[in-house]
Amino acid sequence: MNSTLPIRHEPRVVPRPEHTVSRSDISSGALKVLYRLHRSGYLAYLVGGGVRDLLLGKRPKDFDVVTNARPQEIRRLFRNSRIIGRRFRLVHVMFADGIVEVATFRASPEPPEVPDGWEEGEESELATEAEETPREAVVETEVFGSPAEDAWRRDFTVNALFYNIADYSILDYVGGMEDLEARVLRSIGPPDLRFREDPVRMLRALEYMVRLEFELEPELEAAIHRNRELILDASPARLAYELLEVLKSGSAHGICSAWRRFGILKLVFPEAEAAGSALGKVLRAADRRVAMGFEPHDAVLLGASFLPAFAGILARVAPPGQRVDNPALLEALDNLLEPPAARLHISNRNLHLMKQGMFTISKMLKAPEKGRQVTRLARQEYFPVAWQLYTLAVESELLPREPWEAWNRALDRLRTHGTAADPGTRARRDRRPRRRRRRR
Ligand code: ATP
Ligand code: MG
Repeated sequence: MNSTLPIRHEPRVVPRPEHTVSRSDISSGALKVLYRLHRSGYLAYLVGGGVRDLLLGKRPKDFDVVTNARPQEIRRLFRNSRIIGRRFRLVHVMFADGIVEVATFRASPEPPEVPDGWEEGEESELATEAEETPREAVVETEVFGSPAEDAWRRDFTVNALFYNIADYSILDYVGGMEDLEARVLRSIGPPDLRFREDPVRMLRALEYMVRLEFELEPELEAAIHRNRELILDASPARLAYELLEVLKSGSAHGICSAWRRFGILKLVFPEAEAAGSALGKVLRAADRRVAMGFEPHDAVLLGASFLPAFAGILARVAPPGQRVDNPALLEALDNLLEPPAARLHISNRNLHLMKQGMFTISKMLKAPEKGRQVTRLARQEYFPVAWQLYTLAVESELLPREPWEAWNRALDRLRTHGTAADPGTRARRDRRPRRRRRRR
């Protein structure tokens, strides 16, 4: 397939004085990895969002390194590292401030793997099987490539720039520097072909367009319209992963609007599409919380899109002033959450948390009558999810604010009284920095 793409074998080299990537903005872990590879005689480049964001003056989410060292060789250079993925082609080097992902140059355009442990069931069984295969045997069958090929198999030109630790220059095999200056997102190679290889690239294109405030190159834009149905072929695990990344990004509202405009939201997440304009309010509320530094639980992010439908259910099974019809509520929650959870391979754990969270909200639509009621609920493991979802529903005006405020005051009182099972700290669990999710 690569033979149809004109590979630029000699990169454009942008020397250090002519670009803005500074070592002081690169994490100390990534620098250590780059320098040790370089001193051991290997090529060592920073690549992907790390380079792109530094060139744009933004703070990168994480740093990826590529090298001509083989995974086994990388593994030997770093004691704090492990080979990951089903095909053992990536090495994670662990540092106090995060993981640096190191990959060997490769030619294959195949899509990245879903991060380990993401999917329950079928695929993780596959992973276990692979784990039992001797690693060397698997690595032998890999097709590693040249730096040029590695650049060409990437998705968009601005994502394929290399920062070379040997002389601090940028190596551009794909015209990414020009596109970056013009703020244009351009497919590497024909977009129709690239979307057939991996339809998730369409979702990613729209994410970058919103997050980076870039224009789509016209051919890329037309190709998304032409190929949107292909998204139905993407693996559910990767769709769910991408969806969560978007919900966490702080730009969920903008990105979901773009997916909607391109007719992709209704294919990937028809339940969200069906929520109509109420979804916009919920996602804006979620984005505000992320901007404030909250790291909402995955079940909260996934559950947020169902809040408009959930508010409708509550109006039916828990009309103001009447008792909640629990069996009807539970049945409605099953009908609401189970089909999309199955389709998107949402874990049973997150499904359980969403369901319990929403069920709990139905118990909080009235101000608490007794302190004991507050203590008892706040002690439940699912309470943080319930509380965060309730807060989002109130902030997006789906549920009335007064009872929420009464609960908030009651939780504050409990927190200041500091009982053994302090519900306050549980309610605010999302303020604690969470362990970083392992990356693909
Ligand atoms: P972010 O800021 O979201 O981390 P990123 O560009 O670093 O953005 P990652 O998902 O971390 O994105 O992937 C790192 C790099 O791997 C990308 O920049 C791109 O070069 C390459 N890549 C990732 N996913 C794909 C894909 N589906 N097809 C081709 N290349 C990909
Ligand atoms: Mg990245």
